[in-house]
Amino acid sequence: MNDYRGVQLFQASLLDFPWLQHGFSTRLGGVSEGVYATLNLGFRVGDLPERVAVNRKRLAEVLGYDPERAVAGQQVHGDEVALVTAREAGAGALEPETALPATDGLVTSTPGLALAAFFADCVPVVLADTRRRAVGIAHAGWRGTLKLITGKALARMSMAFNTNPAECVAVLGPAIGPCCYTVGGQVAEAFLPWGDRVVRRDGGVWRVDLWEANRRVLVAAGVPRGSIGVVKVCTACHPELMFSHRRDGGKTGRMAAVAAIRSKEL
Ligand SMILES: [Zn+2]
Repeated sequence: MNDYRGVQLFQASLLDFPWLQHGFSTRLGGVSEGVYATLNLGFRVGDLPERVAVNRKRLAEVLGYDPERAVAGQQVHGDEVALVTAREAGAGALEPETALPATDGLVTSTPGLALAAFFADCVPVVLADTRRRAVGIAHAGWRGTLKLITGKALARMSMAFNTNPAECVAVLGPAIGPCCYTVGGQVAEAFLPWGDRVVRRDGGVWRVDLWEANRRVLVAAGVPRGSIGVVKVCTACHPELMFSHRRDGGKTGRMAAVAAIRSKEL
């Protein structure tokens, strides 16, 4: 974990390129209070919007991108992936109303536009095409995972940028781990075809490993195994560090995954 003046982020060495900036935020380093303390980045969770805006600007400042030009989708646990160009700059950046409607994946090859998605248990996915310099981001909860949102984001990159998955790096960020992610029979059943490394019955309850499921989607799409990283930090296990929708009974903040092509290479 890296500390930027109190804003603590997970960053993966796999994504350490001079042209790319990325981060998976924690709850540390912001101005929100109570259940949203402190770096809540989600607008539609009951926090004061002005505090969320301050938090989003703070994250942008420490990572070094323009908060006014960031782009976010209105996440609906679907499988729509939007191609982000200069035209979309600023959509959903500092207010929720302008976020791209019903969008759970974003891809771009335009420098200076930070793609952002928000999480409190679902799996954040960051994709980078290291040859063509394009990035993607996806929000993969159980519904999105079953709809193959991660593979669809990669396919959108192939369509838009001629991305070859063999030249991509992917990192799955902090999410609710199989230690804490127990599910009902219907969800378990939907994952049964994925095999017992993804879903298993353990101590009388069903557990799903969303990291493993999304890792498989990436491997099936052609991303080399060695180019896939997982930040195996369970959101529910770390109340001091992470928001968790499941653990906190729905009253909680959101963390962000952000990826951008730098306007100026380091
Ligand atoms: Zn856990």
